Amino acid sequence: MRVLDNPALHNACLNSQEVIGVYLTTFKQWEMQNDAKTKINFWFRNLENLKTELEKLNIPLVVLDAETFANSPKVLWNFIQENDVKSLYFNNEYPFYELERDRQIYHDFRENGVGIFNYHDQVIHQPGSLKTTTGNNFSVYSPFKKKWFAELDDKQLELLPIPEPKSELSIKSSDLGKYLAETKVSQAKYWESGEDFIRNHINEFLKTKGSAYKEERNFPNIKATSMLSPYLNSGVVSSKWCLLKAMEFNNGLLDDGDKGIVHWVSEILWREFYRHILYNFPKVSRDQPFISYTKNIPWRDDQDDLNKWKEGKTGIPIVDAGMREMLATGWMHNRTRMIVAMFLSKNLLINWQEGEKYFMEHLVDGDLASNNGGWQWSASTGTDAAPYFRIMNPETQSMRFDPEGKYIKKWIPELKDCPISQIHMPENPEQYGYPKAMVDLKESRKKAIDVFSEIKG
Ligand SMILES: Cc1cc2nc3c(=O)[nH]c(=O)nc-3n(C[C@H](O)[C@H](O)[C@H](O)COP(=O)(O)OP(=O)(O)OC[C@H]3O[C@@H](n4cnc5c(N)ncnc54)[C@H](O)[C@@H]3O)c2cc1C
Repeated sequence: MRVLDNPALHNACLNSQEVIGVYLTTFKQWEMQNDAKTKINFWFRNLENLKTELEKLNIPLVVLDAETFANSPKVLWNFIQENDVKSLYFNNEYPFYELERDRQIYHDFRENGVGIFNYHDQVIHQPGSLKTTTGNNFSVYSPFKKKWFAELDDKQLELLPIPEPKSELSIKSSDLGKYLAETKVSQAKYWESGEDFIRNHINEFLKTKGSAYKEERNFPNIKATSMLSPYLNSGVVSSKWCLLKAMEFNNGLLDDGDKGIVHWVSEILWREFYRHILYNFPKVSRDQPFISYTKNIPWRDDQDDLNKWKEGKTGIPIVDAGMREMLATGWMHNRTRMIVAMFLSKNLLINWQEGEKYFMEHLVDGDLASNNGGWQWSASTGTDAAPYFRIMNPETQSMRFDPEGKYIKKWIPELKDCPISQIHMPENPEQYGYPKAMVDLKESRKKAIDVFSEIKG
């Protein structure tokens, strides 16, 4: 989704005078993978920006409809034959089905004489390349991060420039109008598109909010985080560019210096960690918990309770505020993501996979690796997860991180007249037209701990 620091584009342009950009839509596949409409619309809006940028380089952007990954090799093959294409360049994706698709293309096209060049791009170290001293894959973040820094080579942070213009071609770019119209969503207004936009935005973020990030990042009412996730996950900007920018505002340092910026870098590395986990332990993206014993947790199958959580009607204000923020904007603050995820998987004892799916259906930054990682962390089923007995209490979390209830009042207008002393758990919520708490927090917490400890044995 970008022309700056794009290895496939860069190398295609180095090796050939004639270059075509191709984008494959796979609507059926996206539906099967629960990709949110908000996110798909975001992709197309960024694609429109990409088209403009590519056309400046005389590179047309052609959109091909393939419906599914299974269909993608055939659709691409037809295009290659019709246009006498000699070589295919692409950047790697790491989820299981994407890898399967790309391996098929690699194999089939090479056998038929098409040059195939694929590049590592999404994170700094190639997934699978970082090992513990005993040669194993990392499953704990801190040693992973230590190794990440130890193995970092300056070359890995060299930015690839925007390519020089190519020869003009007779083939024209596709019209994206129908895709934009079909995926139109109300949340689009929160997510401006384009690589120029996000680069300026991050520059401004680091300049004005970088140093305060560590202190303020946990307060959902403060706009203290970068709102970078949808852009990073969709490839509108590279993690390399973000890290270089962080260095620029921190005297050339990544792991020392300004505490706020160093902490922001460490969050970007959580994203890298979960991508390595996804690649090294593919079971996590195939309906499996990382910690095997948790397969036997007797999750409650209660559709009514699940629906209350989904709709932001649990009667626990901070939980409902988080869920309503996501429904309205396509994004939820990290603190509330943790709170709502623990509430579902512990207090309600409902399978974390229900929450994982619902998040994917609504998040503009929905990402298999980070979403799965965040959910398995919260449910105590994953790598480096929260221990099952350490359950966040949403009421005390709310008092600590939304002390004046501003975030709650923003997303739950029914509670606008509720006094601050009661905002975290109103005594008589019906007077505001707001529901009573659906569970007793202490009892449900105890029940979750008992269930986990019994299964663990
Ligand atoms: C249950 C749950 C589900 C989540 N689902 C997703 C998801 O689908 N997609 C997603 O990108 N993130 C997910 N996260 C992680 C995190 O909530 C978001 O990355 C963050 O809120 C994005 O906001 P930001 O860009 O302002 O982050 P910042 O605080 O500005 O951080 C900068 C970047 O670091 C990365 N990052 C920050 N925190 C995390 C984290 N805990 N795990 C992985 N990467 C992180 C993101 O790429 C983020 O853009 C989830 C967390 C939880 C607890």
